[in-house]
Amino acid sequence: MLNFFDLSFEEIAGRLSDLDTRPFRTDQVLRWVYTLGVDDFMEMTDMPRALRESLAVLWDLRPMREVERTQTVDGTVKFLHILDDGEMIESVLIPEEGHNTLCISTQTGCTMSCAFCETGREPGGRDLTSGEILAQIVYAVRYTGERLKVRNLVFMGMGEPLLNMDSLLAALEVILSERGLDFSPRRVTVSTCGWVPGIKRLAAEGPDVNLAVSLNASDDVTRSTLMPVNRKYPIDSLMEAVKAFPVKARRRITFEYVLIEGVNDTREDARRLKNILQGVPSKVNLIPCNRNYSGLKAPTQGHIRTFQEWLLEDGVLATMRKSRGQEIGAACGQLRAAVGGK
Ligand code: SAH
Repeated sequence: MLNFFDLSFEEIAGRLSDLDTRPFRTDQVLRWVYTLGVDDFMEMTDMPRALRESLAVLWDLRPMREVERTQTVDGTVKFLHILDDGEMIESVLIPEEGHNTLCISTQTGCTMSCAFCETGREPGGRDLTSGEILAQIVYAVRYTGERLKVRNLVFMGMGEPLLNMDSLLAALEVILSERGLDFSPRRVTVSTCGWVPGIKRLAAEGPDVNLAVSLNASDDVTRSTLMPVNRKYPIDSLMEAVKAFPVKARRRITFEYVLIEGVNDTREDARRLKNILQGVPSKVNLIPCNRNYSGLKAPTQGHIRTFQEWLLEDGVLATMRKSRGQEIGAACGQLRAAVGGK
């Protein structure tokens, strides 16, 4: 069986037209699957039974299985899914006032080896298909009961989205299409460690979703120590690509900055950040370093606030990310679903 979510609308239409000539069938199926979240063709009651039976053996509407679900007291839910080949991924549903943010994965591991991040601890894994990316969203939509309850989508789970560009772009098409998941591009954020060719390709070929860049340091020496990708694409080249990225009016590029005690948290760091971001419509999102195997840790709450104030003093818009789901290993930098590695 084929993963339904791997198919483009044209492929769905093409296959359907072999079985039934009525042109509205495609939109009927798309609506059942993407708008209503139905996971069984037999439930698509406005279609002929014979057609439903043919589709049920052709296309898989449940391409991943949940093997574990954990939830914190504040309602953050971490889903652990097993894929067809036994690889595992995690997605995290984060409730906020009146809506949810869903954090999804694009690879089953990560090759970027950032010092502070659990996902890249043992480099490996594979790219997800576009269908596996989409299925995480559909799964969460089914869980919440309704598409509109998942308001924001962030590509901040396992993996580096811009190293899996083909799947990312194919998934984004369905995510943003009115016939698909119908997300507003303003509600979708792709986060990158700073993979410059990917930023350029997203700028040239991608839709106008938000870009987030995990900067995490204010100088090349520190950044290269924390994030090996910086040796290939140092801050200058990264910022050049970011400056060329088209940003809609009234929107900003987010710069994530994991604050690590004694590593990147001085007054001087704040000043250098300001210089790096000069002329870029930006906001800095400070993330206290979550605990994992690395042993790195966040500065005190007080110091984090001081760092934020330094940025604000320098005219840099800076917010603090409230880390959610730490106690279930669902917070930034804690996702790691490797088989047998838990
Ligand atoms: N590869 C992409 C997508 C992952 S997003 C990227 O790097 O942006 C995951 C975010 O969590 C990144 O901003 C990363 O810098 C941050 N992160 C990783 N480890 C962390 C940790 N231990 N504590 C807090 N944030 C962390």
